[in-house]
Amino acid sequence: MLIVMRKDASNEEIDAVIKKIESFGWQAKPIPGGERTAIGILRNTQPVDPAIFLGMPGVRDAISVSKPYKLVSREMHPEDTHIPFEGFEIGGEKLILMAGPCAVESESQAFSIAESVKEAGAKIFRAGAFKPRTSPYSFQGLGEKGLEILAKVREKFGLFIISEATDHDICDLVEQYVDIIQIGTRNMQNYRLLRRAGQAKKPVLLKRGMWATVDEFLMAAEYIMSEGNSQVILCERGIRTFTTHSRNTLDLNAVPYIKQESHLPIVIDPSHASGRRDQVIPLAKAGAAVGAHGLLIEVHNQPEKAMSDGPQSLLPEQFKELVKQLKEMGFKI
Ligand code: PEP
Ligand code: MN
Repeated sequence: MLIVMRKDASNEEIDAVIKKIESFGWQAKPIPGGERTAIGILRNTQPVDPAIFLGMPGVRDAISVSKPYKLVSREMHPEDTHIPFEGFEIGGEKLILMAGPCAVESESQAFSIAESVKEAGAKIFRAGAFKPRTSPYSFQGLGEKGLEILAKVREKFGLFIISEATDHDICDLVEQYVDIIQIGTRNMQNYRLLRRAGQAKKPVLLKRGMWATVDEFLMAAEYIMSEGNSQVILCERGIRTFTTHSRNTLDLNAVPYIKQESHLPIVIDPSHASGRRDQVIPLAKAGAAVGAHGLLIEVHNQPEKAMSDGPQSLLPEQFKELVKQLKEMGFKI
């Protein structure tokens, strides 16, 4: 429920509503707006009776929030969330490019790719140090050594770093090294990890589960926000369908829908959505065209030798070409 205060409501009237909410053991979340203040009610397990508040001084309305997600929803937070970094923000006017290999494999591999994606216009370097692999026999990532290499990439190239925390226990370590903590598709409903990410002091990029509805996706983001971390970036990375012509199906429809429902930034990952290099550039452009705030793209200097996801990795020249085409389409990078 959202308690909407009158324009001329005094601070004492607002405080009285907050105290009333807290007296039931619920949490009050004041949402100051240009016109008037609203107060969201959180942590109620049963529907709230609007009559409790409607008679109170300064209260104009008590509106029930129609969606199960609250902190994530535009009803509670009408303005877009912008996530600031030094020199740019995610969720604003510009299309933010996050690019790099699926996994950190060596210092020379990471440096070579970082140099080319930085030159092309990427602001954030992506690479996994801990890899969630379908087969236990596949390369699992370099672990902390990989994170150390990523820290050197930040230092040498001035790129921000995003890397995945694959479980609760390594989240501490990942948080120490990265600028954005990635939560992968397989972990979208790992509630312990989501809560841990919600306690992190760094932004979190949450990928949509490959099986998940958009409502389930937004509820997963709600877990993170409910622990106090409001710096959440959503990522549509393709869902499983009956297709055989690509690894997954990029749900482009999700972008305008999510932008309508939520104030959180949303980015597109065309690499995991397609699994095929030849589809990455068209899907990246489509993602930008439907309004994504950024793109997360796999790039490798020797994709034929990559330890993971080589077939979907763009070559550095292809990434450069993509950026050129995006600029020609009018996107500010
Ligand atoms: C990745 O970004 O390399 C990755 C493993 O992604 P996803 O969780 O979307 O499969
Ligand atoms: Mn990958």
